[in-house]
Amino acid sequence: MIHHTATRSIPLRYYYQLMSQLNPESQNHMTEGKQQMMAEASASRDLISMIDKNLLECGICNEPFVDPRGLPCLHAFCFNCLETWSKSCSDDCSIVSCPLCQKVHHIPEEEGIGGFPVHFIMTNLKQTVDHLKQVGLGLYVKK
Ligand SMILES: [Zn+2]
Ligand SMILES: [Zn+2]
Repeated sequence: MIHHTATRSIPLRYYYQLMSQLNPESQNHMTEGKQQMMAEASASRDLISMIDKNLLECGICNEPFVDPRGLPCLHAFCFNCLETWSKSCSDDCSIVSCPLCQKVHHIPEEEGIGGFPVHFIMTNLKQTVDHLKQVGLGLYVKK
């Protein structure tokens, strides 16, 4: 019998694979499967909240993106946030500096902030993460 405490540092997936190789007739098979499932669900949950926090929050309002627009530096911000931000310009209002990297970009003359493209990567990622939260993970618990 292998003690769980001795194998903590081995990734769970590898550990259970090893266990089933060493001991194919393991009586604890069901329990292990369940433990692995829970470990995987917890890892997925961590990953999702990491993506949510690190990638899907607007650097201006610190809220989840609403209509994310991409600047040429590839940073994304909500359309409304970017518009408010660009109006806080001091002298030259035809440019906007990125709040994150300070790169200066020309605001499209005719369309204004609306001329910056929809950030499709953020849009798709957000849809995917929202979907996973709702249906992909039965064990997902909202914070
Ligand atoms: Zn925002
Ligand atoms: Zn930037």
